[in-house]
Amino acid sequence: MQSLEAELEEARALEVDALADAIESIGFECTRCGACCTGEAEDDHTATVFPDEVRDLQETTEHDWRDVARPMPYGLADGEDGPEGETFEWALQTDSCGDCAFYEEDDNGVGACVAHDDRPLICRTYPFSVALAGTSQPMGEVVDSVALGAQREVDETGDEESVVQAHECEGLGRDISRSDAEDLAAALKERAVRELEEAIGVRDAYEPTAVDPGEIVVHDSEGAKRPDGTPIDD
Ligand code: SF4
Repeated sequence: MQSLEAELEEARALEVDALADAIESIGFECTRCGACCTGEAEDDHTATVFPDEVRDLQETTEHDWRDVARPMPYGLADGEDGPEGETFEWALQTDSCGDCAFYEEDDNGVGACVAHDDRPLICRTYPFSVALAGTSQPMGEVVDSVALGAQREVDETGDEESVVQAHECEGLGRDISRSDAEDLAAALKERAVRELEEAIGVRDAYEPTAVDPGEIVVHDSEGAKRPDGTPIDD
């Protein structure tokens, strides 16, 4: 397993053209089915959002931090009064149905994102992700993947190749224009870089923090925070 810094270097070296080629060969067009914005059966919608993305969404929607993001539930324990403990990411806030708080359906049941222009990178790039060579990516089941041609020279050494992965989505396999594939590819590279920068930031900013029963502390790249986004130090 390579260091986060080495992975970051690899992400920064990703070629947008090669990513766009992979996206084009898989094919994608959003059908506006809403599946990536809504919860499933017992599971609430869960999508990672970076701290600065939370602030951008707050600014455009004039919402409080808590209306935009919630502590990522993974890793939290079941306390007497609900989840408690430490977590290391923020997730987009959900509504009472378990759907993303920014997802709204019109009278005909057609869904839309009310924060579309400011939606986080994870939304801009769904249903794709990048698996860098030699790493494992946590994001859901993979239904298709294409190796990046630009990385093939590395492969001659026997190393694994980086791949573009596609996750379950009914829009996969549809024609995509070159310019849309390039836009998506640029966002995918930005997301790969940002995820690693955030992971390095979390690792470097982490300081063990006392967590009282019933409380949640979120450690992000800016330090330890309460669920309302305020720093613990304040
Ligand atoms: S922010 Fe918008 S695009 Fe992202 S999950 Fe929510 S409704 Fe969907």
